[in-house]
Amino acid sequence: MDHFNYHGGELCAEDVPLSRIAAAVGTPVYVYSAATLTRHFGLFRQALDWTDHLVCFAVKANSNLAVLKLMGDLGAGMDVVSGGEYARAKAAGVPGDRIVFSGVGKTVAEMRQAIEGGIRQFNIESEPEMRALSALAASMGATVPVAIRVNPDVDAKTHEKIATGKSENKFGIPIARAREVYAEAASLPGLRVVGVDVHIGSQLTDLEPYRAAYAKVAELTRALRADGHAITRLDLGGGLGIPYRRDNNAPPLPIEYGQVIRETVGDLGCEIEIEPGRNIVGNAGILLSEVIYLKQGEGRDFLIVDAAMNDLARPAMYGAHHDIVPVREPAVGAPVRPFDVVGPVCESGDTFQKGAHLPDMAAGDLIAFRSAGAYGAVMASEYNSRPLVPEVLVSGDHFAVIRARPTFEEMLARDSIPEWL
Ligand SMILES: *Cc1c(COP(=O)(O)O)cnc(C)c1O
Repeated sequence: MDHFNYHGGELCAEDVPLSRIAAAVGTPVYVYSAATLTRHFGLFRQALDWTDHLVCFAVKANSNLAVLKLMGDLGAGMDVVSGGEYARAKAAGVPGDRIVFSGVGKTVAEMRQAIEGGIRQFNIESEPEMRALSALAASMGATVPVAIRVNPDVDAKTHEKIATGKSENKFGIPIARAREVYAEAASLPGLRVVGVDVHIGSQLTDLEPYRAAYAKVAELTRALRADGHAITRLDLGGGLGIPYRRDNNAPPLPIEYGQVIRETVGDLGCEIEIEPGRNIVGNAGILLSEVIYLKQGEGRDFLIVDAAMNDLARPAMYGAHHDIVPVREPAVGAPVRPFDVVGPVCESGDTFQKGAHLPDMAAGDLIAFRSAGAYGAVMASEYNSRPLVPEVLVSGDHFAVIRARPTFEEMLARDSIPEWL
């Protein structure tokens, strides 16, 4: 459920008509609903209310400071994968002891930044990384909490580019070797082993891969405890999918996911961390765009819109689907016909959808790409020198620009021409 619905013949974000935002900010623009974000975060909390837990928002899904501040104020922790994301979490007011640092290639500079700024735990992804962190922490006179990310070799049954829990993927340490790596971790200075970490992929629409992975984590936790490690925390990753098509079977709910966690690891007495990103913010955002031209092709009609693959990369990158809806509510029974919805960028890949069923459209009409709150704005670029797409946050009947559209001057000012040219 989200808060993007038709009221008075027009698609609104909560109580704000999208045409009002288009008039004030221009298009294309991302629009997020604070009420939807709040609701989705609450669902994960509720799903884990049977135990000690921390819901860490995966910052990579949407890293706008206003979104992070909203989540942080609700009590969320943050899962970060770079020094930049760590800086964003801190700037949004999230204390270091609620920030988990994940990612396969943390640099020494990034690890230093997090130790100095405060950190809840590092999720270690390789032995070289573990040794580097140990040496750094020891040199700083610090002892840092660590979990080791294990690769359970489970097929998440999702898109190959976002599956992370198979042995062929670059993530984590093979679970079969975990005990020896934990033994080394316990022997190294500067590290305090606190938990086990796993994350098997994104946009999971089936709970069985979770059940399989978490059962392996439970078995490993018992073995590690028998080996003498004090495992008090389990970080179970993120990845719960969202419905990208309104007419499709909905993926499992957070409450059902929480039940799988309870059934697989609930008897271990560990504090549970999860790292949802997409499920919290995906359906809390839309990309608002205006039709520039209607173009007749050979046997098809193109709807050329002012959003492009640089603003929303998922269709070009993963062949992903976003429902496209008109902002003006179509009359009941109004005829629809197929349009190929495309952007202005000079690539055939800049196609959002072929044969999208829409009512008659004209230049100047507004459309919305639904489910665009996650992995949307964060993946945007300035390809074709299109200024970075702006973002707006709505709450009730008011809205604020939370990232302004850069002017051409601002965009150009980042380049410099050497004086010898
Ligand atoms: C991407 C990622 C997440 C979030 O995944 P979602 O599908 O957005 O929930 C969580 N943890 C880690 C380690 C990730 O890489």
